Amino acid sequence: MGAAGTVRLVDYSPWPFELPTVELDVQIQSDHVSVTSQLQLEPRQPGQALVLQGVDLQLESISIDQTPLNKDQWVLDQSTLTIAQPPDQPFVLTTRCRLHPDSNRSLEGLYASEGMLTTQCEAEGFRRIAFHPDRPDVLSRWTVRLEADQARFPVLLSNGNGISIPVEAEGRHAMRWIDPSRKPSYLFALVAGQLSEIRDEYRTASGRSVALRLHVEPGDESYTAHAMASLKRSMEWDERVYQLEYDLDEYNIVAVRHFNMGAMENKSLNIFNSKLVLADAETATDGELERVESVIAHEYFHNWTGNRITCRDWFQLSLKEGLTVFRDQSFTADLHSAAVKRIEDVAMLRNTQFREDAGPTAHPVKPSEYQAIDNFYTTTIYEKGAEVIRMLHTLLGEERFMRGIAEYVRRFDGTAATTEDFVESIAAGATQDGEPLGFDLDQFRGWYHQAGTPLLSIDQRWDAERGEMVVSLQQSTAATPGQPVKTPMVLPVSMALIGSDGRLNEERLVVFDRESATVTLQAAPAAQAPALSVLRSFSAPVVLRQSRPLADTLLLLAADDDPFSRWDAAQSLYRDVLLARASDQPDQPKEAALIDALRQRLGALTAGHESELATLLGLPGLAELESLQSPADPPALYRAVMAFRERLAEELRDPLHQLLSAARVGWTQAWPAGQGHRQLTAVAWTWLAADDQEIRREALSAVSGPSMTLARAALRALQPVDCTERDEASRLFEQRWQHKPVILDAWFSMEASMPRSDALDHVRGLLQHPRFDPLAPNSLRAVLGGFTANTLAFHADDGSGYQFMAEQILDVDSRNPITASRMAKVFSRWKTYADDRSALMHQAIRSLADRGGELSANTQEVVTLLLS
Ligand SMILES: [Zn+2]
Repeated sequence: MGAAGTVRLVDYSPWPFELPTVELDVQIQSDHVSVTSQLQLEPRQPGQALVLQGVDLQLESISIDQTPLNKDQWVLDQSTLTIAQPPDQPFVLTTRCRLHPDSNRSLEGLYASEGMLTTQCEAEGFRRIAFHPDRPDVLSRWTVRLEADQARFPVLLSNGNGISIPVEAEGRHAMRWIDPSRKPSYLFALVAGQLSEIRDEYRTASGRSVALRLHVEPGDESYTAHAMASLKRSMEWDERVYQLEYDLDEYNIVAVRHFNMGAMENKSLNIFNSKLVLADAETATDGELERVESVIAHEYFHNWTGNRITCRDWFQLSLKEGLTVFRDQSFTADLHSAAVKRIEDVAMLRNTQFREDAGPTAHPVKPSEYQAIDNFYTTTIYEKGAEVIRMLHTLLGEERFMRGIAEYVRRFDGTAATTEDFVESIAAGATQDGEPLGFDLDQFRGWYHQAGTPLLSIDQRWDAERGEMVVSLQQSTAATPGQPVKTPMVLPVSMALIGSDGRLNEERLVVFDRESATVTLQAAPAAQAPALSVLRSFSAPVVLRQSRPLADTLLLLAADDDPFSRWDAAQSLYRDVLLARASDQPDQPKEAALIDALRQRLGALTAGHESELATLLGLPGLAELESLQSPADPPALYRAVMAFRERLAEELRDPLHQLLSAARVGWTQAWPAGQGHRQLTAVAWTWLAADDQEIRREALSAVSGPSMTLARAALRALQPVDCTERDEASRLFEQRWQHKPVILDAWFSMEASMPRSDALDHVRGLLQHPRFDPLAPNSLRAVLGGFTANTLAFHADDGSGYQFMAEQILDVDSRNPITASRMAKVFSRWKTYADDRSALMHQAIRSLADRGGELSANTQEVVTLLLS
């Protein structure tokens, strides 16, 4: 169990010691690991007790300046080691501890994965390796000596630069790793095992050579070219766009199967979930290739925004994550389609972050307290944090924003900083030219402290004689747990008028920072009002409520020059027709108008815009739809989506077939080329598969083809259709990829989310499948996450789906609290359902809460929040 108790931002104080150097000697033995740690400690003032963190450590010896301590000089409890009266002068504390990585199932600290030893220290994992303050504001220079059996662990890695050193014992070998940069303990890493190395080189802008090394399990070497190329693109981009160059002589990436997160940015030794390294067109979809590229970039970008400038405490987590997500989003936008990237990010935000903001686990980008910090690696900290940075960029423009970044690096390189430090630096850098900032900085900081998604309401009035559009804006934010009263935020609202001829009139960025305001936009006088395009490029992360004539929405869909606005116009129509269907009142005129508009878009496709058209045809996610319905009825929404899809297929059959024939030319093109064609193929298959056997046969044959993108599109298209092609496709895919766990996870997910009358039994069967690995979070997420996406089964009327998930969460929690507490958030919307459903879900949460002390601190915190 982790240490319970609330940590508060207001209680922050610096650690009373300096810790200039840490020396670790790690001896890997056959049945345990012995870690000797030497901490060079310098009291900031005399008389301070020394308190170090340590969890599940078997302390074997402890000494100060090489003199062993007596039993009465130190106190050890479950999570801390206290020396009440350490020396007043600088001293060296040496501890030796014994660890058992083979039985560590939490995937925190030092643990075994497929015969290799690896570490995960963020946020508080280092305390499972050695006694240490284990807080991000204690920065030290680290030296690590690793020794192990040469045959079992031929590769020994840690941070910094490594050299081989002699060992006397027969059959053993050792490496010394020296990291010249000061770093906190959460960025420490070590890896030991049998790994194949793929080596490359990067020459930096200033002409230095950096050795790039990827380490994978033997046999996986041929799947690394994409990851390596992505790393080089990231290094080049950060030099070109941010003027930030890599600082060490080598950069290592290790792929690990058992990993709680996506990847970890440990200084010069990134550790990745193997699914985010091993990828080529045959084994990964286009989307996965792009994701691998962006995660490699994300972890690389952390070298400056996270590692060289780190967080003072964990309340500042978004300092590194929000900024680095913004950077990786910009990277992907630059390399591919900026419009499509923005659309995908907004769709994701609406389906995950907005949902979090509206539920019991809502919290600000900068929380003021927590129990388990692991619970705060959330979409609010990451994605909303990135939106906050994006608004600064939108408000200031590229040049001033980049001056702010340069100022931030100048002020805080080599230190542990706060979000205030960041915002101050950006403002100082941006105003170096003497221009005022253009918005209230104090008020802008509200984005870090206020939880909840603001609601922006827009009304419009057209003055035909003057040619003026009078726009009234209002904003409000609903109460969130612990924050009953909200204040207005600084909202950058981008607006424009689109004439009936499709011409753009005045475009303007309005800084809206009060509860209400009126803005007047100019156009040519005309009887026919232009359409108001608002929140262009999604200039602020808000829910938009806009009363707008249907004709205007259709005009924007057809003619707005902002691709995001075109997409969002379609989304607003989809939302309306789906919600109407879900409440058994289909809006026939709107459906007809929408289908007409889509027919036109299908017919007007021009080369190079395939991806954009595919996103335009994407229906809103169920999570987003749920948030707009009261009470929410997920099965009704699911049925509405399926029924509307059928209607779309019926009405658009001919243009979809034409689209498909045109799209086939792109099938064999290598990513990123051809991805738009493959996306359109996926849409056409999905819509047409239900009653078109030709299509089903074509999809089935793709499962054995050379493109993973098409194979998975085929499985998805066939998934809801009860037919022989579906069974055959599933069987072929499983057979083909049974020895590749990274790929088989996708199959597990597909099977678990398949609508079928015996879905729950089917999922129980998957958990017993010989290839299911209960210790791999990827497998758990595939099967259990897949099941929660199986709307009709998870939301079964008898509550069996909820009860099943509660049992599974309890089971996972006993070995991996981080994964379990994340899974528990699947119950976060229970209060928004109708009484029966709500009561059943509440019962499932209660069944977890009733286990009280058996739950980990992580899951306990989430369950308590859910019930509050
Ligand atoms: Zn990150």
